[in-house]
Amino acid sequence: MSFEALGLNPFILRALAESGYEAPTQVQQDAVPAALDGRDLLVSSRTGSGKTAAFMLPSLHRLSGVACGEVRGPRVLVLTPTRELAAQVSGAAKKYGRYVRDSRVVSVVGGVPYPAQNRMLAGRYEILVATPGRLIDQLDRGRIDFSRVEVLVLDEADRMLDMGFIEDIETVVAKLPTERQTLMFSATLDVRIARLARNMLRDPLAINIASQEAKPDIEQRLLLADGLGHKNRMLEHILRGTDVQQAIVFTSTKRGADLLASDLEQSGFLTAALHGDMRQSQRNRALDQLRRGRLRVLVATDVAARGIDVQGISHVINFDLPKSAEDYVHRIGRTGRAGRAGIAITLVENREYRQIKSIERYLRLEIPMHTLPGLEPKSRLERPVDERRPRPPRKWTGTRTAAPGGRPPSRSGEERHRGARPAAAGSKAGRW
Ligand code: ADP
Ligand code: MG
Repeated sequence: MSFEALGLNPFILRALAESGYEAPTQVQQDAVPAALDGRDLLVSSRTGSGKTAAFMLPSLHRLSGVACGEVRGPRVLVLTPTRELAAQVSGAAKKYGRYVRDSRVVSVVGGVPYPAQNRMLAGRYEILVATPGRLIDQLDRGRIDFSRVEVLVLDEADRMLDMGFIEDIETVVAKLPTERQTLMFSATLDVRIARLARNMLRDPLAINIASQEAKPDIEQRLLLADGLGHKNRMLEHILRGTDVQQAIVFTSTKRGADLLASDLEQSGFLTAALHGDMRQSQRNRALDQLRRGRLRVLVATDVAARGIDVQGISHVINFDLPKSAEDYVHRIGRTGRAGRAGIAITLVENREYRQIKSIERYLRLEIPMHTLPGLEPKSRLERPVDERRPRPPRKWTGTRTAAPGGRPPSRSGEERHRGARPAAAGSKAGRW
């Protein structure tokens, strides 16, 4: 399919040709015609798939049509979670719209001195790209007239929710004309996104490309750990590897995240923690530093790490096991962004075999066991001998609290493996 076939204004086609774009990406093929028809969209598609043009091209096409009298204020409003993304989107709008007459872009983000921003807001412009905080600030000061907004775009809606912008978004949307087109983009879909969509979109067309495209490569590995000390040594060994660009290390508790982050910091790694007990500003700072490459290691809990999308993350390390197979999938999805390969390493203790088994069943694959030279485990993975015997379902309780005595009948199995080392078997006995 060609861009011409999408029915875009020739001025836009010319800019695309000059940008070196030969054909629309999948998400552009699906989203552009529907947006040109005026429909609301809920689009989920992975990072790097071309979402910016998917909402900017139809919006520019709209601007290239009927001009809009003397009224000031934006006709297209794009909300983004971060300043960096706002800059990227503004740049794209200028690039794709360079031959469209009335497509002036103004960006309203925090950290920029007011006078220059105020001057731009006082002039004529059609496209406003903004982060929620400063936008509300400028709205409260009466510097923006929303009465002619025709299109609202929520870019990276999942990240905006992760960053705690939900109330800000609601405040902004409440001030917009109800008669408008709303285009919502997200790299992931979950219940929160669905709820937001229900409140803000009208009869949206849902486009979900993520599930159709091949997932980026994530190599998964297991490392058997003898205990906490061994885990710590293996973690440091991994993090010192030259192949590690940036890593997210997952712990099961907030306190565990703080402790491990301070340990790693003391060992000389540029590290920060990320969890739900931290203030939003601290969380934003940690994520921002991660994105800028000023952190090598982020130690995070599950909830806090949802939706993190940083291309430099080469490794995800499960220091503690996740509470469910779904959480495992979310965790390892923090690496392998934008089509790059990623490595996901799970440290597992012998008694946690069942959780691993359950993850493997969920993924329908076996995660290969690796060892680190010089840090081989003293134990071996004990495959329960009574695996096929039906047993009542047990809830996962997390690494630290996993109930001991999971399989007393397999004692003999353990001794078969450990027969040659009675001392080791004795010292471990209490754990079974
Ligand atoms: P997303 O928002 O989905 O993460 P972007 O809109 O930022 O993706 O686009 C990712 C990259 O792909 C950008 O560098 C952009 O210029 C480029 N790109 C987008 N659409 C096309 C296209 N149709 N052909 C070639 N390159 C494209
Ligand atoms: Mg994007």
